[in-house]
Amino acid sequence: MSDTLIALVPSGPQASRSDLATIGFGLAVAGKLGGACDVLVLGPHGGAATNRPVQGVRRFFVADHPDLAHPTGEALAAAIAYVAKAGRYRLIGGVANTTARDSFPRVAARLGAPMVSDVVAFRSADPEKLCFTKPCFSGNLLAEVEAAGPTVVAACRPSAFEPPSASDAATIENAALPERLAHSRKKFVEAQRTELSRPELTEANTIVSGGRGTKGDFKLIEQLADLLGAAVGASRAVVDAGWMPNDFQVGQTGKVVAPKLYIACGLSGAIQHLAGMRNSKTIVAINKDSGAPIFEVADYGLVADLFEAIPQLIAAIQKGRK
Ligand SMILES: Cc1cc2nc3c(=O)[nH]c(=O)nc-3n(C[C@H](O)[C@H](O)[C@H](O)COP(=O)(O)OP(=O)(O)OC[C@H]3O[C@@H](n4cnc5c(N)ncnc54)[C@H](O)[C@@H]3O)c2cc1C
Repeated sequence: MSDTLIALVPSGPQASRSDLATIGFGLAVAGKLGGACDVLVLGPHGGAATNRPVQGVRRFFVADHPDLAHPTGEALAAAIAYVAKAGRYRLIGGVANTTARDSFPRVAARLGAPMVSDVVAFRSADPEKLCFTKPCFSGNLLAEVEAAGPTVVAACRPSAFEPPSASDAATIENAALPERLAHSRKKFVEAQRTELSRPELTEANTIVSGGRGTKGDFKLIEQLADLLGAAVGASRAVVDAGWMPNDFQVGQTGKVVAPKLYIACGLSGAIQHLAGMRNSKTIVAINKDSGAPIFEVADYGLVADLFEAIPQLIAAIQKGRK
């Protein structure tokens, strides 16, 4: 048993960067284990990841099943565990998001396997155990975690892994699944999706985030974001004040992001916020308090009033593009 199974639930008809980077995680593990990497694609966009085949994957399994049209955590877990058992995989991997938080512990329970979440690196494998790196204490420490047993379940942070190169062809099969996957006492009622005109936070290359210093006025943040083709983020203080919806929150209890460029405006840089963005490649901070903790992680810091600095920044970018 040295093969890896990556289970994905794409949120749209195209495989996202997160989906592809999670396959990258699976390939990294398979490479060290000396086995193959298969990908199981579930949910209403089941064919999505197979639209863009990637190098190194042995087989794509598409889980086409009525109980997965609007999948619950129970139905996903039943399908993943079924395929995992049939293939006798060493590692069952997925992406550490809200869907995995609901389904992956159930997969681990069904397989009697240990589970590791928020994996940012795969360290080593021996016949007895697999060793991973994961952040803890709001990202202030990196823990080395060993998971023993014949099968291990792991959810990775896709921002820590690279999507593999595209390939011309893929082997695609329908996954064999049992007749019933859904739990008899739980059913899907309704899904409410937020339609975004900007990139999704976890997918964006650039994020412009606003904190309490905006006083709830996000017009400048949004203007700068649109100029840069960026996503908009927010601190929890902003979300708690009802200035921006919950979906925009970055941090320990929000979304974990690692864009190429993170611009933090009027944000103090509380430890819980840093937990969600400190792995950004370049961090720019605009804050009128030179002692704000955000400057400790910022690559570029501007001590200024955001209501004066952002219009100047916008004007300079527009001028530079003429
Ligand atoms: C269990 C727990 C989980 C949490 N999870 C999260 C999380 O996921 N994400 C998160 O963000 N927080 C989280 N928090 C809250 C966190 O502790 C902070 O309270 C929050 O991040 C502060 O938000 P802020 O930086 O916008 O506000 P503040 O800390 O009030 O900072 C506002 C900053 O704006 C600056 N400022 C004010 N006016 C201007 C201006 N005109 N121009 C420029 N700068 C200006 C100020 O100098 C200040 O530094 C959590 C807290 C707990 C206890």
